[in-house]
Amino acid sequence: MIDDVIIIHFHELTLKGKNRSWFEKTLINNLKQHLYNLPYEHIKILSGRIFVTSINRDLWNQYKHVLKCVIGIRNFILMKKTSLDIDAIKNEALYACQSMNINGSFRVSARRQNKNFQYTTTELNIIVGEFVQKNIRLDVNLKTPDINIIIEIVNNDAFIGVDKINAYGGLPVGTGEMALSLISSGIDSPVASFNIIKRGVHLDYIHFHSAPTTSKQSIYNVISLLEILTQYQLQCKLYLFPLLDIQNKIMDEVDSKYWIILFRRAMIRIANQIAQHNNYKVLISGENIGQVASQTLSNIVAVQDASDIPIVRPLSGYNKEDIVNQAQQIGTYDISIEPYEDCCSYFVPPNPETKAHLNRIYNIENKINFDKLVDVNVQKIEIKEIKYE
Ligand code: ATP
Ligand code: MG
Repeated sequence: MIDDVIIIHFHELTLKGKNRSWFEKTLINNLKQHLYNLPYEHIKILSGRIFVTSINRDLWNQYKHVLKCVIGIRNFILMKKTSLDIDAIKNEALYACQSMNINGSFRVSARRQNKNFQYTTTELNIIVGEFVQKNIRLDVNLKTPDINIIIEIVNNDAFIGVDKINAYGGLPVGTGEMALSLISSGIDSPVASFNIIKRGVHLDYIHFHSAPTTSKQSIYNVISLLEILTQYQLQCKLYLFPLLDIQNKIMDEVDSKYWIILFRRAMIRIANQIAQHNNYKVLISGENIGQVASQTLSNIVAVQDASDIPIVRPLSGYNKEDIVNQAQQIGTYDISIEPYEDCCSYFVPPNPETKAHLNRIYNIENKINFDKLVDVNVQKIEIKEIKYE
């Protein structure tokens, strides 16, 4: 029976020993959720691959868009299923090649799970290659072909396709634990968040704003950013915390060079209380060593010191250019460069401290009764649920 099928290859799961079937189940559940709007018959695992069967080939662009965002997928291929018959395979390979409408080079890449099939992969490559060459004049190019004809022999079926799409890899979302990501509407924190989602961790987010002194634009930008990030993790919570009262108190009573460090420590203290209440194991931040005066190693120490749990900084060693490239790739860049004022960018002091000493900070905090200032009622914090539409 001829059938249109998507074959999905996934990442790293082979490394997971006895947890493997749980990882596979999570990936399949995630796939079902991502594909809920598109037709298919089954999603099933067979010999280390996932098969999405009886899809509608006319909607391939939509499947592509959705599947590219499913974390844990290494690549996926639009395939035609045929019987295990060499003529059927040859004809389908030729047809797939012609449908590309490309005058260039090609290669055949056969794989065989069913070792009883009468042809080896090398024989398949040669037989199908010669047939294609005889019918349409394409050159063979093994290294950088314009068309790669992929043939997979699985059990009693052959699958043939030419459109292979690479995805992000990583581990299926939900196989890690939960973390709370500090998100601003800048370029870095959405990219940092994406990289942790990619490791299977489920993220929720907290954003600190200074409305009404600053506009609410940073909140709207963060919501738009999370709408993009929910393409990868389909739903999340956003905690919105008004930091203005705390900031005013700090600005009234503390030397301006310590403002940023104290704002940061306040954010971390508040995020810790939310984390403790909701079982978030770590905090995620977009900090990047040396990028700005406030991100020196000394200041990273001073910020970490305010936290009972680790703060993971996935971008700490990136170059800005790499962060920007990734922001463009995952779709957050255009929103991140929109103008906004948030609680830190608005109140930037003239000479922020770059080498904060903890003893000095403790003294300042004692004087303004910082512990009480940042002791919040977690249950009263505004939460928005954001879902992929
Ligand atoms: P970003 O591009 O993510 O804003 P940045 O390079 O501008 O990062 P900072 O503004 O110094 O750096 O912030 C460092 C990190 O602190 C951010 O990546 C984010 O994780 C956190 N952060 C900063 N501002 C906020 C905020 N208003 N709400 C929540 N987290 C914030
Ligand atoms: Mg920022």
